[in-house]
Order: sequence, then C-alpha cells, then structure tokens
Amino acid sequence: MQSKNHHPFTEGLLSWYRQHARELPWRQTQDPYAIWLSEIVLQQTRVAQGLPYYLKLLEVFPTVKSLADSDESVLFRHWQGLGYYSRARNLHKTAKLVVSKYQGNFPTTYDSLIQLPGVGPYTAAAIASFAFGEAKPVVDGNVFRILARYFGIETDILHSSARKEFTEVAQELIPPDQAAEFNQAIMDFGSLQCSPAPLCASCPLSVTCFAFQEKRVQDFPVKQKKVKQRNRYFNYFIIEQGNKILVRERKEKDIWSGLWEFYLVESQQEEDLENLLEIDENLSLFLQGSSVQSLKSPKIHLLSHQKIHCRAWHIQVPDNLDIKVQEGFQWMRPVDFEKLGKSVLLLNLITDNLQMQIFNDSMPR
Ligand code: SF4
Repeated sequence: MQSKNHHPFTEGLLSWYRQHARELPWRQTQDPYAIWLSEIVLQQTRVAQGLPYYLKLLEVFPTVKSLADSDESVLFRHWQGLGYYSRARNLHKTAKLVVSKYQGNFPTTYDSLIQLPGVGPYTAAAIASFAFGEAKPVVDGNVFRILARYFGIETDILHSSARKEFTEVAQELIPPDQAAEFNQAIMDFGSLQCSPAPLCASCPLSVTCFAFQEKRVQDFPVKQKKVKQRNRYFNYFIIEQGNKILVRERKEKDIWSGLWEFYLVESQQEEDLENLLEIDENLSLFLQGSSVQSLKSPKIHLLSHQKIHCRAWHIQVPDNLDIKVQEGFQWMRPVDFEKLGKSVLLLNLITDNLQMQIFNDSMPR
C-alpha cells in the first residue's frame, strides 16, 4: 500500500525498491537477534564478505542464549578473518547482557537498543526498524550522499553538525508505516543506484533530484578536506644588553612577515635550552658570562592551520661583552620597539612578563 502523503523522494525510493531489492538472508526475518548479528558482522565489512560469516555464526549460535553461554574463544574462532575483534568482544558482552538483564529478549526500542555495547545509532535504527517497525532512519555515508545530492544539501559531511542535520531530513522522509522498507531501500539505493559513481541515466528520482537537474552531481556530498594543523615550536629569547633588546623584522615568506620579534629559535619539537644551543650555534655568543632565566609564555598560540608552541627565556648580557649581531638584528630601546608591529603571540608574551625591569615603564599593558 502506498501512502498519498509520502514525499516524492520516499515514493520514488520505495517504488524503486520494489523492483531492485537485494535478497539478503537477514531480510527474511524479524528476529532481532539475527538482525543484530547481521548488522554487527556488516560493520566495516562488505556484504559479500560478511554473508558467509553471518550464516555460519547463526548456525553455531542459533539464539542469543547459545551465544551468551558459549566460550568467547569459540566465537573468536568463527570470527577469524573478519577483523576488528572489538566487534566480537562486544557481541559476546551484549549477548550476556541481553540474557541477564532482559531474560534473553532483545530490547524493543531504539532508545534502549542504543544502550547495548557495540550498538551505535545506525545499528540501533536498523534493529528498531527491521524487527520492531520503529520509524528511526539509518544514517551513514550512503545516506549522506543520497540526501545531499537529491536535496542539494551543502553541509560539509565531515562537520560535527552534519549527522544531526541529515538525520532530521531522513526522519522527515521515513514513513511510520514502512520504516523497515524505507531503511532497506535507502541502503540498497546507495549501493546500487546512487553509489559514489551514480547511475543517474536510469534513476527514477532524477526528475526531482537537485544535483542531477542542476548538473552538479559531482559537487555532492560536500566534503571539505581537513587541512592538517601544523605544529611549530617557537623559542623566544629576550636578549638584553645596556637597556636595549635584540629584535628583528620578520622578512621571510611565512606567518607574521613584516612584524617585529625577539630572537627566535624554531625547533622541530619541544627542546630544552641545551639542545636549542646546538640547534642555533649563534645563541651561545650571548651566553658568555650572561644570566639566563626562563620566562612565562603563552605556551600555545593557535592560528588557522598552525599551532605554535611557545617557550621563552631572558638573557641578560653583560654590558662589556662585545657581540657582533647577525644581519637583520638590531639593538633597540623597548620604548621604540613598542611602536612597531608585533604578533599577538609576542604581545601576549610581553604582557606575561611585564614585571621585567626592561619592560617596566615602556611597554604596553
Ligand atoms: S539522479 Fe543520480 S544523483 Fe540523483 S538520486 Fe538518482 S542516482 Fe542519485
């Protein structure tokens, strides 16, 4: 029976399913144990690979009680080759729980199923709809892809809010009287028709499909590549001599070009002072007879794609030590340095150390 109130998507999908449904053994049953077993086997596993395992497991453990009473090693032996052994461990744990807490009867609602070990939103929705007819949509990568294309949803599917949004859309579409068919249909539709390489030419939904009509099928689902955050380790040295500090303008093609900073040693990881002296041999020129003191620092400074780990030291160089500084550096009075552009990290570093005599009267507060 077709309901007249179904959304055209749902109508088209169910009609497609009547002709293309895959015949899978767990579709012939409403036994929640068998359905649960199939769903756990199929997590991260293709149907063709999982099918013989499902059949064998059901033969060896025909009921949840037989699984709960078995030795875990027997289950593991039959699981061999499927990988992800945490699934098998959870399978055993859940079987024991269903027997001890629910007298061998699976819980009958989505909300209680999702409490079981190894049962996430997808598996809970599958069992609730297939075994008990509860209108809870399954939502996975296939469903993201189908709905994003059909409705032109531009949300990045890697974004944390995507699952909620797509679940809400699917919840609107799932017919309360045909929840199991809808979920099975959308699974098959994602595998056979609206797959990563979709068969749009033969698709009955193409007339109302946004992506197809707009010739933008390749644009969906939207999946922004995550830009990897780069960790950098900045070790700043406030080198002071005769009421002046050693500074330079950043000129490289890098962050903060054109801004001013203290003497910087960048390292590949967090290093102690001894190692920093090996990384930057010039640094030791300032240490002859000088006092060194570690400073407070902002520790972590976040930029859009960089995470700067910051440490800082103060080196008080004796007035009589004659040092030829490297090109690009200059000795400057703090009051003059204050007027120059600096990164927020550097400003924070200064604010953290305003108690230093050299900054006392001349730096921003
Ligand atoms: S027309 Fe193409 S993109 Fe749209 S639902 Fe059908 S198979 Fe998917």
